Amino acid sequence: MTFTTKDFTRRMERALSHAAEAGLTGVLVTPGPDLVYFTGYQPTAITERITMLVLDADHDPHLIVPVLERPDAAAAPGAAAVTITDWADGSDPYAATSRLLDPHGRYALSDSAWAMHLLGLQEALPDSRYTSMTATLPMLRAVKDADEVQRLASAGAAADAAYEQILTVRFAGRTETEVGNDLARLLREHGHSQVDFTVVGSGPNGANPHHEMGDRVIEFGDTVVLDFGGLKDGYGSDTTRTVHVGPPTAEELEVYEVVRRAQQAGFEAVQPGVACEEIDRAARAVIEDAGYGEYFIHRTGHGIGLTTHEPPYMVAGERRPLVPGMCFSIEPGIYLPGRFGVRIEDIVTVTENAGRRLNNTSHEMRIVA
Ligand code: ZN
Ligand code: ZN
Ligand code: ZN
Repeated sequence: MTFTTKDFTRRMERALSHAAEAGLTGVLVTPGPDLVYFTGYQPTAITERITMLVLDADHDPHLIVPVLERPDAAAAPGAAAVTITDWADGSDPYAATSRLLDPHGRYALSDSAWAMHLLGLQEALPDSRYTSMTATLPMLRAVKDADEVQRLASAGAAADAAYEQILTVRFAGRTETEVGNDLARLLREHGHSQVDFTVVGSGPNGANPHHEMGDRVIEFGDTVVLDFGGLKDGYGSDTTRTVHVGPPTAEELEVYEVVRRAQQAGFEAVQPGVACEEIDRAARAVIEDAGYGEYFIHRTGHGIGLTTHEPPYMVAGERRPLVPGMCFSIEPGIYLPGRFGVRIEDIVTVTENAGRRLNNTSHEMRIVA
């Protein structure tokens, strides 16, 4: 499955309509996930030489590249959807780029654009204005097309397969890092080209959501948070399950059950038109009602796509509505400092009338050895 010129063109048209709604002249895109989204082009190295896609209502899309990178750009999947313009060393790249811009224009610019490029454009066009792309067009990449959802589903299925296999490895007596390395290997075996994180939070380490993995030896009786993901076929996976080494205590089971119900409540709240913050509220209410509110110390979820963390965020204050095609995590947790933590995370996509999980492994607490 490959994205076509039509897909890239549709994305650029959507960007321009979002930009017009936001009162902007156009959109300026530099290398990174934004440029991959619009053109499929990923320069082998991001350097001081400016590469920029210029989108505005008055011109065809122009991709400005250093002349030495023109052949690579021309071979990109979306090359047919843009006009490629090059500039050579020794010439002024900002003069060349600014000829395509409105001297009084207001542009959204990729967040990851180098400051030197922005400063160069500002000097060339002192009356132009620039704003952050995520600040002004946050929902642009958030709504996925069918092919993107399919890739995210495939990445989710691969992560699920890795999880089923990690349940069969030995936990007790091995370090978190050893188990984490097993997880990373399994993700790669199931088609991931890149592993972004493999959290193994055993015992008290599970109570720190920022803990990745370390030298702690996992013991019989530990609760272990496993949170892992990366990129498969260009799209992200991110799932969390909490397992137990040997039989859990009544308290561990109780906390687990609260998180399981919170995740389910967040999932059941998913529906087009519902505000993102309502997903957070639905999950959080279950945890608060059970008396653990102060131990749920992060937002409920984040978007996922070409990167593993991106808008939309399921967080109080995010009032934008869910739209079919959005894909994001629902990952409530309870963290008891110095003791243990529990988190359950699935990626979910918004359908025409509900949510659909892209992770489908059991939510029952699984016992490992
Ligand atoms: Zn995660
Ligand atoms: Zn996540
Ligand atoms: Zn995260």
